[in-house]
Amino acid sequence: MSDLPQAVELTPAALHLRWPDGAAELPAARLRAVCRCGGCRARAERGEPAPAPAELVDAVPVGRYALNLIFSDGHDRGIYPWTWLRELGPVNAAA
Ligand SMILES: [Zn+2]
Repeated sequence: MSDLPQAVELTPAALHLRWPDGAAELPAARLRAVCRCGGCRARAERGEPAPAPAELVDAVPVGRYALNLIFSDGHDRGIYPWTWLRELGPVNAAA
């Protein structure tokens, strides 16, 4: 079982995660750009440009394994497993 963050905080600009060994801040624009949902993958395969940056509106837990992020441009298909979020963000040693 992958470890889960101890705290999740959402602001329009970023997703803040507190892991057992530090905190990570993932900018909303980056999360929007790396979305792996079917529509975004198809768009990337067609060679179309990444979506315009968008703000975060909501984060809905998907079971115990992922977050479904909702963006201000209406995009709500992105599922972000904790293991992937962990890889995306640097962990700052600041306790
Ligand atoms: Zn997507």
